[in-house]
Amino acid sequence: MKLIIESISENEAFARTVVAAYITRLDPTLEELADVKTAVSEAVTNSIIHGYAGKHGKIEIRCEIKNRELEVEITDFGVGIADIEKAMQPLYTTKPEWERSGMGFAFMEAFMDALEVYSEPGKGTRVVMRKEIGREEQDA
Ligand code: ATP
Ligand code: MG
Repeated sequence: MKLIIESISENEAFARTVVAAYITRLDPTLEELADVKTAVSEAVTNSIIHGYAGKHGKIEIRCEIKNRELEVEITDFGVGIADIEKAMQPLYTTKPEWERSGMGFAFMEAFMDALEVYSEPGKGTRVVMRKEIGREEQDA
């Protein structure tokens, strides 16, 4: 599944709802749905407010299901991140004056099984996240 959206805040809720709908066939628990929606929301918000900093640009959201694992990739073609390791640290934010708490990447990491961030200054940022869905039911 590939979705291309304009980087406006109105599209953030739309994007997370599309991803939630996409994983319906895996029969996710409400908690898993909430986790995935939060993670997508954080990544898309980052592309809008940091990547494009209010300017218009395209955000690509690609989803794939492999067995019971969701892979979701969120890409922007904005300013990029110079120091990824630093950016991913909890509480680190370059926009404290905007009342950002610097917890976006920490949430993505906590709510998903895996998080990878690729970025190049001036080129953009790509976030890849994976999460196994319905694991608890399988184990029961
Ligand atoms: P919060 O998510 O809690 O509102 P935040 O967005 O600053 O605050 P993170 O989501 O953890 O915190 O991101 C940390 C920092 O990484 C950001 O402040 C920003 O500098 C950088 N960053 C994150 N995503 C992008 C992106 N798509 N493009 C450019 N910079 C980014
Ligand atoms: Mg953020």
